[in-house]
Amino acid sequence: MPTLFERILNKEIPATIVHQDERVTAFRDIQPRAPVHILVVPTKPIPTANDIEDGDEALIGHMFTVARDLARREGIAEDGYRLIINCNKHGGQEVYHLHLHLLGGKPLGPMVSA
Ligand code: AMP
Repeated sequence: MPTLFERILNKEIPATIVHQDERVTAFRDIQPRAPVHILVVPTKPIPTANDIEDGDEALIGHMFTVARDLARREGIAEDGYRLIINCNKHGGQEVYHLHLHLLGGKPLGPMVSA
């Protein structure tokens, strides 16, 4: 079964795509938790952070440089932002296709609630 994000990447499900190249696609989160909330998703369907392989290091680095460029383009780089990868149940992961959340546009408060 393709993941929800694979279906977005394949254009079977609509999304507001803000960046796409061979290795990653970035689109706006459907339920934004901040004025800017973008998901950076690798084309390769890596389920969780636990499944990242040594050979994926360049891909993971690319996800971060794309997030950096998007932060600049969205005008949030100067004030700051948060990058999050949730993993499995305790991390609150909902979609089992690795993704980097880019959140910003307001003060984001404490990193985790107690
Ligand atoms: P996570 O909890 O880290 O797995 O994050 C999954 C994220 O995917 C959540 O922030 C959801 O709001 C977001 N999401 C779920 N469905 C869609 C969709 N169809 N388009 C865009 N974002 C989505």
